[in-house]
Amino acid sequence: MGLRLAVTGANGRMGRAVLAAASDRDAVEVVLAVNRSPVEAQIGGVAVDPADDLDRLLADRKADVLVDFTGPESAIEYATACADRDVAFVTGTTGFGADEIDALEAITTEIPLLRASNFSRGVAALRLAVREAVAALDGYDIELTETHHNGKRDAPSGTAKTILADVEAIRSDLTSRVHGREGDAPRTSGEIGVHARRAGDVAGEHEVLLAGNNETVTVSHRAGDRSIFAIGAIDAAEWIVDRAPGRYDFFDVIDED
Ligand code: NAD
Repeated sequence: MGLRLAVTGANGRMGRAVLAAASDRDAVEVVLAVNRSPVEAQIGGVAVDPADDLDRLLADRKADVLVDFTGPESAIEYATACADRDVAFVTGTTGFGADEIDALEAITTEIPLLRASNFSRGVAALRLAVREAVAALDGYDIELTETHHNGKRDAPSGTAKTILADVEAIRSDLTSRVHGREGDAPRTSGEIGVHARRAGDVAGEHEVLLAGNNETVTVSHRAGDRSIFAIGAIDAAEWIVDRAPGRYDFFDVIDED
């Protein structure tokens, strides 16, 4: 039997991409798509229901797993509905505050929950490459630049924050993130420069610059299309469905490929 998939934020950029990617998979059936505001037309061949009634709809449609790309507040609300109905939860939503991450963490005792700031295999490879470069180039200055479409809400991106945490786990001397610079602002040791650009319809670009004396290394990734995130999220949904309750991330999915 195929995977019975529910999708939130169906009319968002990523919700649409997830519905399109799901329609390409024989083993995945979208049994529920919801959006907070009404959507008249079908998306990816699927009728869209109001999100208010998610709890009941999850049970009525017998969903196995829900894929969420919305906002932090709604992601917690939807994860709670999934916990009530014993539905696995996969979220790519970013911009969570510390309290919101704690709230999601509490739900991992009830259902399998996978949260990833990026569902691209290329970005997973970028993270590994950055870790290697940072470990090999001790003492080098590090600056991170990310670019996204002009509708993105959170800055810096969730992926940028994940990469920064990766860097800081290796370089304990880097204790302050400096977001842009203006005026008399020479670089000090111990800082990582972080730069967030917002323009056009850019799906997502991340570049890490490591600079020592007389040499620079840049490691970068460019998403050509949102479908890469949608494909990764559906892979995660297929992977998580029969897991025990707990917290999982995208490396768990990739490591089993
Ligand atoms: P978008 O603005 O195009 O769509 C957001 C969708 O969520 C819309 O349908 C909107 O109605 C809904 N939504 C937003 N806030 C809501 C709320 N409070 N209650 C109910 N519904 C709400 O955004 P997008 O580009 O699709 O991105 C959505 C999220 O996914 C963002 O957090 C973004 O950073 C993240 N994202 C993650 C990845 C990844 O690989 N993990 C990739 C791209 C985007």
